[in-house]
Amino acid sequence: SDAPLFGTMAGDIAVSFEFFPPKSEKMEAQLWDAITELAPLSPDFVSVTYGAGGSTRERTHATVARIRKETPLVPAAHLTCVAASKGEIAEIADQYWEAGVRHIVALRGDPQPQDNGVFRAHPDGYASAAALVEGLKARHDFEVSVAAYPEVHPEAASAQSDLDNLKRKIDAGATRAITQFFFSADAYFRFLDKALAAGIDAPIVPGIMPVTSFAAIRRMSGNTAIPAYLESLFSDLDERPGPRALVAAVAAADLCKRLYDGGVRNFHFYTLNKADQTYAICQLLGLRPHLPLGEPA
Ligand code: FAD
Repeated sequence: SDAPLFGTMAGDIAVSFEFFPPKSEKMEAQLWDAITELAPLSPDFVSVTYGAGGSTRERTHATVARIRKETPLVPAAHLTCVAASKGEIAEIADQYWEAGVRHIVALRGDPQPQDNGVFRAHPDGYASAAALVEGLKARHDFEVSVAAYPEVHPEAASAQSDLDNLKRKIDAGATRAITQFFFSADAYFRFLDKALAAGIDAPIVPGIMPVTSFAAIRRMSGNTAIPAYLESLFSDLDERPGPRALVAAVAAADLCKRLYDGGVRNFHFYTLNKADQTYAICQLLGLRPHLPLGEPA
């Protein structure tokens, strides 16, 4: 039939974009190019990750502060429990609050390499994201987002205990969950049903990863199933970054379309500090720029 896959959506979606703090001047320039290109899509917020082991504390803060100062975008700062006392977390929270940052993505963080896959809390720190959310909300009235895992967090005792944990994070004051990336729309929708049945009524926004390196995705995937068709889509593209990025955008847009058809209207993109794939997917989903490219607000 002539029914197109894309091009008929109403443009009724809302998006958010995730960036990581740059490590060099060159990466800083790349990040700002990406922010400038994506800004006209008027994201609800843009978030900046916090490095493993708390290594990016200053860089995360500097990036968030610059977004707040130089763009009309609403920044959200990721913050983890790793290697920080409750006092240090309070200090970081105060600095964000004073800088006008009102949205924190609160995470536990991954185990440190020397701890062999077991998370060890700082002796005076928070042991879980739920405890961090509680601490942040007691300090300031932040908007707080937390992480969710449609295919279950790798350390969870069971799917049910992972859901109970998500419920604790929402009950502690988080108003939104953002999911780990996934490649199965079915897995996401099944998770939504279970979350609803568990009494979780906060929005659970899908985290969309436009694959740039398939090898990296395989390394990072944890519990995330990689469907056989994706393996096949990316076969023989390792040395072909251009076509690989195009194929990845099509695959991510296809996933987003399935989510859209199932009623999803909010999407969070792991941009990896690159604009083109994310922009193209948003365009396919019917989103259009609200401001001319690069126009200051
Ligand atoms: P938690 O919600 O604390 O859960 C961790 C594990 O402990 C789960 O298995 C949970 O089921 C279990 N658990 C917690 N409490 C209990 C309890 N009382 N009883 C039994 N089990 C319990 N990492 C970074 O370092 N920096 C980032 O910027 C970052 N951003 C992220 C953004 C998103 C959207 C996502 C999805 C992940 C991000 N991560 C980031 C990764 C995250 O830090 C890891 O996935 C980490 O291993 C778990 O963090 P969490 O906040 O989900 O932890």
